[in-house]
Amino acid sequence: MPFFSFVRLVSACIVAIVMAAGIERAWAVDGAKPGTPTIAAAAAVETEGSKTRFKVTLSKPVTAQVSVMERPDRVIIDLPEVAFHLPAESGRGREGLIASYRYGLFAPGRSRVVMELTQPAVVSGMTTAPDATGAASILTIELSRADREEFRKAAVESSAAAKEASAAPVVQETKDSRPVIMIDAGHGGIDPGAAGSGNVVEKDLVLSFAQRLKKKLEENGRYKIVMTRDQDVFVSLGDRVRAARAAQADLFISVHADSIAGGQEVRGLTVYTGSERASDADSARLADRENKADAVAGVESGDMPDDVSDILMELTMRETRGFSHSFASRLVGEFDSVARLNKNPHRQARFQVLRAHDVPSVLVELGYLSSQKDLDLLMSEEWRAKMVSAMSVAVDRFFAARFARRGAAAVLP
Ligand SMILES: [Zn+2]
Repeated sequence: MPFFSFVRLVSACIVAIVMAAGIERAWAVDGAKPGTPTIAAAAAVETEGSKTRFKVTLSKPVTAQVSVMERPDRVIIDLPEVAFHLPAESGRGREGLIASYRYGLFAPGRSRVVMELTQPAVVSGMTTAPDATGAASILTIELSRADREEFRKAAVESSAAAKEASAAPVVQETKDSRPVIMIDAGHGGIDPGAAGSGNVVEKDLVLSFAQRLKKKLEENGRYKIVMTRDQDVFVSLGDRVRAARAAQADLFISVHADSIAGGQEVRGLTVYTGSERASDADSARLADRENKADAVAGVESGDMPDDVSDILMELTMRETRGFSHSFASRLVGEFDSVARLNKNPHRQARFQVLRAHDVPSVLVELGYLSSQKDLDLLMSEEWRAKMVSAMSVAVDRFFAARFARRGAAAVLP
């Protein structure tokens, strides 16, 4: 039976089971009432022979859609919005066909579980049943070992179905006369980014930093500030770039705080600009890792906007890269007196998120979560305040220079 008809059949069975249990009311309101989120209270992985079962205990039954993806091999479970109240270590242990799994908000109203597989596997069963108390519902996804060919076929069918469902629409921002700055808090939702000690994750750190930066830049009223995300939600790299272009942003600032192998000594702040050729091997590796953000969330990133296809676009891109560089230099200049900088603080690499050909863009790595000293700084209110002040000075100088240039151009014949 083709994989998707199988999934549909299983979904239909779940509906039937839920109806039979006489809880169709819970079914009907599910997803319609954002005020009463479904809660995931427990999750477990069990192995039996060649089968592995993933079980999640939910406060009410939900519809699940399952798909698979290659490179890396993954099983993706799409759910209505679920609040995951699971122990922090959930998903980290290897068990049967599941190497690890992660979960989180994928888009407003939609949650996702992404399981990395130890070897190719397909979904051989999906059921929902009341738990022992009868108060909660257990969703069970059963995986069975598959050969590479079978797995690839299932992945192709999943990909076709996902394209049909299409990506989330990008909100069109209307341009006002002020320069528009788009702040991009890296990662989010199902993609946690790097992890530091004490359960600190990059996605939370950079969101709270981005919110502070927005507030600071809004203080003088000179700029219109927009954000690619202002909550713990996944946004694909392509949608971040599209959002910047749709808002006709004059500047795009992506905020990250990753970790690096190399121990506690590697630390400090780095500003990156986009380039086909990386300035050094570490930067290339970092960009590769960042570019995998879509894969982490179970999204195909084939569809990137702005493949520079003609000479006009290339000219615009060259000019834009000049602006990106000049902003990066100003940022490094301002950070220099208040922050500890990485060796060679202005670097380049091929970051997907810096690909808008007509929006000057930089990516700021605030520090490394792998360094306890950096982590302490990142958590410090005082340090954050100093950094957002330095950034706002750099922004003011950047736009002052651009307007001076524009003014000069206007008076020239
Ligand atoms: Zn990052």
